[in-house]
Amino acid sequence: MPAPSSARLTIDLDALAQNYAVLRDLAPGAEPAPVVKADGYGLGAVPVARRLWTEGARAFFVARLSEGEALRAGLGPERPATIHVLDGFTPGTGPRLTAANLTPVLSSLAQIESASTFAGPVAIQVDTGMNRQGLTGAEARDLAATLPPGLRVETIMSHLGSATDPADPRSAAQLDAFASVRPLFPHARASFAASAGIALGHVYHFDLVRPGISLYGGGPEERPDARLKSVATYEAPILYLRQVEAGEMIGYGSKTIVETDSRIAVVAAGYADGLIRCAMGRSQAWFAGALRKVLIITMDLIAIEIGDAQANPGDMVELLGPHVLLDDLAAAAGTVAHECLVRLGGRAERVYLGQR
Ligand SMILES: *Cc1c(COP(=O)(O)O)cnc(C)c1O
Repeated sequence: MPAPSSARLTIDLDALAQNYAVLRDLAPGAEPAPVVKADGYGLGAVPVARRLWTEGARAFFVARLSEGEALRAGLGPERPATIHVLDGFTPGTGPRLTAANLTPVLSSLAQIESASTFAGPVAIQVDTGMNRQGLTGAEARDLAATLPPGLRVETIMSHLGSATDPADPRSAAQLDAFASVRPLFPHARASFAASAGIALGHVYHFDLVRPGISLYGGGPEERPDARLKSVATYEAPILYLRQVEAGEMIGYGSKTIVETDSRIAVVAAGYADGLIRCAMGRSQAWFAGALRKVLIITMDLIAIEIGDAQANPGDMVELLGPHVLLDDLAAAAGTVAHECLVRLGGRAERVYLGQR
């Protein structure tokens, strides 16, 4: 019997490239600037960005300064991409932004003030209704009238708060607000849409779109989208097989009682590997050609019901991938696809397909 291997996170960069092409074609005329924050949503910002560079991407977004520095080093001098840092400019970060040639996204008057002597290009974010970050419309108008002469505003941007629901009228209201601010910065490129906004249609696209989750296979409406390929596959090996009788418990707290005699497989993955515990009883795993119920999720182990399937310790079980779709897993966990992805991979062996 082969010794059980460890959990494996397979990242299919060919699928990523196909999703990139789908999103690019959904927003013709706009430049796609992939969002690779949080280490490329947990899948590896450098391999992801290098492959997307090969596909034609020339601008990227990260959240933190340190992510920008790591991405600059990983892309190397032969791939001189524009790297935007969403955290913007905080006092003292100027030399590091300059050294790594990063473009801060300035999202408050205080940041613009701090950056007034910053020589590199910047992006400016305006708030159009999300109330998270960005200048108010009035602040943007004042700024446009009194722009520090040295400040090179390359991009003006905003972010949608409810684009995953195409019927939500707030998106159109945000669009109106953005369209009224945009002419104040006539020389800047405009960027408004993330994955969900791209799916809302042409009027949301402007010059630069910022796809994140849909590059990695998450549907723009928080449900599986047949146009997008699954990029991440997470598999873990079976450690033990057991028979549990009707009425017996599995795991802690006697919360999971099997109703009928059941054959279960105990698999070497748990919430310490990034599975979300509250999905237990609702999420599914793929094994031996069928979806199987995930009965319990503990720190290092889960148990799945396998019926009469042929199984041996060491057999791999798919916990996310082409059969266990990211959006279905997120729904079972009561969260968004983004959170499911960024948690995975800590203890898993990583395998990249299609690396360039
Ligand atoms: C994270 C983020 C994105 C990407 O969003 P997705 O939903 O993953 O496509 C785009 N823009 C901003 C400002 C973000 O914070």
